[in-house]
This record gives sequence, C-alpha cells and structure tokens, in this order.
Amino acid sequence: MNHDLAGKVALVTGASSGIGAATALALSAGGARVAAGARRADRLKALADQARGELLPLDLDVTDQESVRAAVAATVGHFGRLDVLVNNAGVMLSGPIEGADTSEWVRMVETNLLGSMYAVHAALPHLLASKGTVVQVSSTSGRIASAGGGVYSATKFGVTGFAESLRQEVTTRGVRVVVVEPGFVATELIGHITDPARRAAAREMGEAMRTLQPEDIAEAVVYAVGQPPHVAVNELLIRPTDQT
Ligand code: NDP
Repeated sequence: MNHDLAGKVALVTGASSGIGAATALALSAGGARVAAGARRADRLKALADQARGELLPLDLDVTDQESVRAAVAATVGHFGRLDVLVNNAGVMLSGPIEGADTSEWVRMVETNLLGSMYAVHAALPHLLASKGTVVQVSSTSGRIASAGGGVYSATKFGVTGFAESLRQEVTTRGVRVVVVEPGFVATELIGHITDPARRAAAREMGEAMRTLQPEDIAEAVVYAVGQPPHVAVNELLIRPTDQT
C-alpha cells in the first residue's frame, strides 16, 4: 500500500462543498497538488486557504464543454501535468416521474452524466500521458434504482456504464478507472431537491441513521488513488452501517 501522492496533480470537479471539497483537501493532505473546480468561487477560495498544499481554484461549470476544457487546460498549464481526475460534480433533484418538471431531468443529465463525460474527454490525453487515474463518483443509486429517484439513478447507472467502457479502452495503457458508490453522505445534496415531500423524506432518512461524512468518501478516494500503479481499485461501494 502506498498513499504518498507527492508529485501528483489532481483535478476535482464539484469541489466547493461536500464530497468534492473533502476529497480536494484529502488529496492535498496526501501530498498532491490540486485544482478544485466549481461555480461558487467564494467557497473555492475558502478551500484553498484550508488546504495543506497548493490548491488552485477554478471556475467550472461541467455542463459547459468549453468551461470543462478550459479547466483541464488551466490545470495542466499551471501544474504541468494531470494525474488524477475526480469526476464528482453532481445534483440530485429527486421526485416522481409522473408530472415531473423535466428541466430538472435536463439539469441532472447535463451535470451528472454529460458533465462527467466531458471531463473525461478533455482530461484523457493528459491521463494517458501520465498513466493517471479517473475517479467517477457514482452512487448506490447507480446500482439499485428506487421510486422517486428514476432520473438520478439513470445518470448514475450511466456514469458506471461509461466508466466500464472507459476502463476497457485505457487500462492496458496504464490508466486506472475507479467507480466510487457512496450511500447516504451528510452534504448539501438533498437541499436542492425541489419536491418538498421528497426533500423532507430525505432529511428524515438522514436523521434516522449515522450517515457517512464527506471525509469518509475522501479517504476511500485517497486509498484508491494511492495504490501502486499495478493495482486498480475499480469499484468501491460505501454505505453507512445503518443504511439498509
Ligand atoms: P454537494 O451538493 O455538497 O456538492 C455538489 C458539488 O457539485 C458542489 O461542489 C457543486 O458546486 C457542484 N456542482 C453542481 N453543479 C455543477 C456544475 N454545473 N458545474 C460544476 N460543479 C457543479 O453534494 P455531494 O458532495 O453530496 O455530491 C457530490 C457527488 O456525490 C455528486 O455527484 C453526488 O451525486 C454524489 N453522491 C452523493 C451522495 C450523498 O448522499 N451526499 C451519495 C452518493 C453519491 P457549485 O454549486 O459551486 O458549482
């Protein structure tokens, strides 16, 4: 086992809160130089102040291909290389399919699925050069669908499917693909659900258990990324012990 990330450069999407922020800090604490992308610049600036090593805040909207390409270019321009892409940006706008506001479906597909694909597309030449690692933050909802989570699940099943194709295309060229599937993590994620009943139900679910903390997932990412080059941790399913 080798968790020394010294010399490695990581780009974390959706790094302004929750799992992405914790992962950016953990990678930095492990010795990596980190580019942290999201739309809320004030949060990223605060994160840079907390990081152990150099943390480069980047304006990033993953739904905008140009923005994604610019963030990858800025990372490589600043640090000279890219070893790790953590594809974490995401939204969960849960609710029933019947009568849904389909603009929320567009937002989820564009952010969770297309956004992560754009990031892989832009980063891949650099990751092939460095024999780097792609970490795809999927979800337990990428393995098991449930009522009220249809479109979110569709995006996360999609993330996992895309990751497996990517793995088969690049693994013999030294690029590792890791899918991380968290259960309930205490973050801002459920605060964006617009359906009041669904949002309340999600909050109650969280209050009824010892949820995971963002740092729990960050540790798992550092574990996977820090393995020696011949070891590919392809999938990590991490649930709260209390979650059925
Ligand atoms: P948060 O809401 O705390 O974080 C979401 C992050 O995504 C924010 O940094 C946000 O930044 C960013 N983001 C959203 N839209 C965009 C965009 N268009 N462009 C760039 N960044 C964007 O939630 P989590 O930390 O929980 O979520 C992180 C990931 O973990 C998501 O993919 C989520 O699906 C996944 N996940 C979460 C679970 C949980 O229980 N919390 C369980 C399983 C998976 P900003 O708004 O500043 O752009």
